[in-house]
Amino acid sequence: MKSLHNAVWLYLGSEARNAEEIAALLDWCERGSVGKIIVYLSLDGRHAETVPERVALLAEAAASRNIEVHGMVSTLHQRVGSRDQLLLNDKACYCVDAHGISTYDEPICGHGYVLDPGHPDVKATIPAKCAELLRQFPGLSGIHLDFIRYYHYDSRLEIDTKSAGHWIGLPKAGQPIRLETADGVRTTYFIDEARNAYNDPPIGDKLVLSRSYRYCFCDDCLNGFERHSGIAIPRTPGDTASISRWLLDRHPAEWAEYRASLITSLVGSIRQALRDVRADAKLSAAVWYNAPYGNELRGEPFLPESEYECFGQKWWEWAERGYVDFVCPMDYWMKPGSFAGIVEGQIRKAAGRVPVYAGLLKTAEYDIGQEQFEEYVRRAGDSGADGICLFHYGSWKQLL
Ligand SMILES: [Zn+2]
Repeated sequence: MKSLHNAVWLYLGSEARNAEEIAALLDWCERGSVGKIIVYLSLDGRHAETVPERVALLAEAAASRNIEVHGMVSTLHQRVGSRDQLLLNDKACYCVDAHGISTYDEPICGHGYVLDPGHPDVKATIPAKCAELLRQFPGLSGIHLDFIRYYHYDSRLEIDTKSAGHWIGLPKAGQPIRLETADGVRTTYFIDEARNAYNDPPIGDKLVLSRSYRYCFCDDCLNGFERHSGIAIPRTPGDTASISRWLLDRHPAEWAEYRASLITSLVGSIRQALRDVRADAKLSAAVWYNAPYGNELRGEPFLPESEYECFGQKWWEWAERGYVDFVCPMDYWMKPGSFAGIVEGQIRKAAGRVPVYAGLLKTAEYDIGQEQFEEYVRRAGDSGADGICLFHYGSWKQLL
């Protein structure tokens, strides 16, 4: 590995607040061979007053040490408290799940709004916003795309109803059921199974609820799929659940290909927009390694290609088309052995076209000590990674 071969994600919050903290950060980068600082910025350009100055100071000081600063954005996922803070306030710009529920109406966990990469306003706005950031922060070497993917999760709740008594009407399979917390956050689930031992006396057994967070089944995306694949979808208007079931059962490969094509096309448009501002501006992305991520912690196997099928991330194609300059797969929550195997696969997919910085996460609940860290670094190098990308400075700064 070359010197300064690593990268780090940085959240400004309580880091890099002044010249002294910036110098400490850059010293830390040099000790850890970190040559790329990827700092989180808001895609909508609404930053705290001090941010432009802090980023300018950081970029200037970093440049003097030959360290690049890249601006990271949450590309398709917006986490906001209310709709008036959204980048685009039109319901049609937001993804619709396999049940027909839009994230605009029911944001994930109450605040997660997922933009539809197929919508014309999204396709126009995101590249323009990325270009604007590059103009607003001239010290940046490029833009780093986080959440350049569909949201995806198959959520399942199994409730022991043995002692539930007369707790709720008589739930029946197929019906929706709504959970609501005290702060008004509502989530719709669907009853998969409702089993009772006795109706009288009321002795339950179990209730199984599920919600399929798979996207996007809006009418425009369904029409787009038909044009893209040449496959006609048998449609009953309004019955998204049947349509999504039919698509996922009958044409999973074509559906995955179509969705990935929309994400790839958005990455290409962002690339072009950046080039129009500055020819040498770099574009990079954080990508997942598996769906669901964190599967090893649940004792579940890795599903090859699931990052492509579920998140729509055919990132090796982004590299092949010259859209990205490097990738940082978020290879989190894995033992060193599995980590090495996953990195090897990613190196094969990158096929030497772009550097791969294997992402490594350290948190209070998933801690990594010095010795383990060295093992991960060794494994990443042996697997062919160009370096590692540390998530994130605040949690790694004590170690290096
Ligand atoms: Zn859609």
